[in-house]
Amino acid sequence: MANPIRNCMGCGTQDDHPRHVLGDGGGAGVDIFWHHDCHFRASGCEVCEAVSAEGLTGDELRAHIEDNDPGGAVAREINERQAPWTQNANLETQEA
Ligand SMILES: [Zn+2]
Ligand SMILES: [Zn+2]
Repeated sequence: MANPIRNCMGCGTQDDHPRHVLGDGGGAGVDIFWHHDCHFRASGCEVCEAVSAEGLTGDELRAHIEDNDPGGAVAREINERQAPWTQNANLETQEA
């Protein structure tokens, strides 16, 4: 299933490749999109490190995410480490 065309805060490219979607925690309701590899390079994001560990992009990465959910376990572990308000925000992001 293709994703909508979105931009990337890291490299500025617009394509339908998988993104790490970061909400703003309920403020203005503005989501921020990153390619997983760009987000890992820019911020050391642990979720994106796990997702991009295989070096896949585009359709191959999307299939890998759908089959294996490589960032899911990492995201849940991070949620458990963080304060409850952050946990709620992250859960909303996961479901989006
Ligand atoms: Zn990018
Ligand atoms: Zn990320």
